[in-house]
Amino acid sequence: MNSHMMEVPLLISSLIKYADRYHGDTEIVTRTVEGDIHRYNYSEAHERSKKLANALVKIGVVRGDRIATLAWNTHRHLEIYYGVSGSGAICHTVNPRLFREQIIYIMNHAKDNCLFFDLTFLPIVEKLLPDLPLVEHFVLMTDKAHMPVSQIPNLLCYEQLIESDSGNFVWPEFPEKTDSSLCYTSGTTGNPKGVMYQHRTTILHSYAAAMPDALNLSARDVILPVVPMFHANAWGLPYAAALTGAKLVLPGAGMDGASLFELFENEKVTLSAGVPTIWMGLVSHLKDNKLKFSTLKRTVIGGSAVPPAMTRSFEEDYQVEVLHAWGMTEMSPLGTVSIMKHKHLSLSKDKQLAIKDKQGRPIYGVDMKIVDDQGRELPWDGKAFGELLVRGPWILNSYYRDGDEKTLKPDHNGLEWFPTGDVATIDPDGFMQITDRSKDVIKTGGEWISSIDLENTAVSHPDIAEAAVIAVYHPKWDERPLLIAVKKQEATLSKEDIINFFAGKVAKWWIPDDVVFVSELPHTATGKLQKNKLREEFANYKLPTA
Ligand code: ADP
Repeated sequence: MNSHMMEVPLLISSLIKYADRYHGDTEIVTRTVEGDIHRYNYSEAHERSKKLANALVKIGVVRGDRIATLAWNTHRHLEIYYGVSGSGAICHTVNPRLFREQIIYIMNHAKDNCLFFDLTFLPIVEKLLPDLPLVEHFVLMTDKAHMPVSQIPNLLCYEQLIESDSGNFVWPEFPEKTDSSLCYTSGTTGNPKGVMYQHRTTILHSYAAAMPDALNLSARDVILPVVPMFHANAWGLPYAAALTGAKLVLPGAGMDGASLFELFENEKVTLSAGVPTIWMGLVSHLKDNKLKFSTLKRTVIGGSAVPPAMTRSFEEDYQVEVLHAWGMTEMSPLGTVSIMKHKHLSLSKDKQLAIKDKQGRPIYGVDMKIVDDQGRELPWDGKAFGELLVRGPWILNSYYRDGDEKTLKPDHNGLEWFPTGDVATIDPDGFMQITDRSKDVIKTGGEWISSIDLENTAVSHPDIAEAAVIAVYHPKWDERPLLIAVKKQEATLSKEDIINFFAGKVAKWWIPDDVVFVSELPHTATGKLQKNKLREEFANYKLPTA
């Protein structure tokens, strides 16, 4: 084809080159793992990323090699994002909160040949050592003064590794569809699965994420990603910050409310992002100490549903706009953001807040639909719920090194869709709301019951601390809901009390058939309820109604 336009590949190196050239003096501030505050700018970050790229060549890293990290959000991790992907290798961020067996599985499956890690994780890495035979280089992300005595042979020091090299490095040009970075999904069942992003998908996702109706980023922002760089690339913020020239503030290992609040205030943070649990710690720190944010304007919350009370607290008590977002590792990760349209501006505050309780509408690039068991598209009436399918240029096609496993589902027009595993409604304005995970939904007599709705109702009872609802076998209805709940300390609640509590709050046929009280519920490494464990435990549970 005869092209009349320039052919410039969309490469990750172009982000840091741009930030250096046009926002060179914009700051990047880190609370380091060693404890001090490190401050430099995009020009210096670029220079050090190039030094790292030179050092990688020297230790024998070639294009396509997988370079693993076990690291917090810091300037060194940022340099690895750019230095590794920019030189054509693959930055594989490993979640240090996973169980030992999962980390071993992931790193061997990815065939990582280098591991960069923070001081915090030295004890973990020392224990992993015998199980990581493919890793040739271990690099501790610190300076010479903090190098510990370690049993890891030939342990390299990050600062020494890059200091000996020059910042003269020309970022290579290669096709934009080259693999750039790798994340594994935490996987509540089975082994974790790898999602391999490309340079092109990363750049397109960064553009989309920066848009006003997405995360709304600009060169006037100061962004503090609380979401870790090992969690779906910190939702793309390390890339989108460079693309917009926003100041970046990286909290290192200091994830407690007091440390975060100090950084928010000292660095004049305007936008932050993280999962609901992290905000609980921060908000209670603010409440306990009667503090207010003085510069924070917006916060992106996602990863699991934002509790309605949290949205109201941020918006009404602290005048911070909540951007409720939904996505998946498989989607790079952004899919939807709950942000109003012009016609919603005249609604009452209550109605506006109700819109924010939904997971939101797709950002440009993401298409979605809900389907029934037979794959037929369901109406956008905000009521019908079905499996949520997505399509788009930064959405996974197949998992990394997963054989011939078919991941996508074709529709009647031959278009392929990624099944998210979420069950959702879509309203006439295109706002999606998650009602369940498809494996958690309760299928009773051909109808579906949302386990999340029942759990939300249960935890709205003042004596319930946490609740899970699972499907158990019923001879007549196939499945019926069983509520498994943790009582608050000293609560004297009976089964009947909680069953009666559901009356009038959900449809009659939704009310759980039985209740079991337990002392705690099982969770995954990323803090999500482990319902598969409960399903195993209660596999032979006999309902009183059966
Ligand atoms: P992450 O690690 O970012 O949570 P995962 O890929 O592990 O991403 O999990 C994605 C799943 O998390 C989604 O399919 C959905 O079930 C859940 N999720 C993400 N964001 C939300 C949200 N805002 N509300 C409800 N569930 C969410």
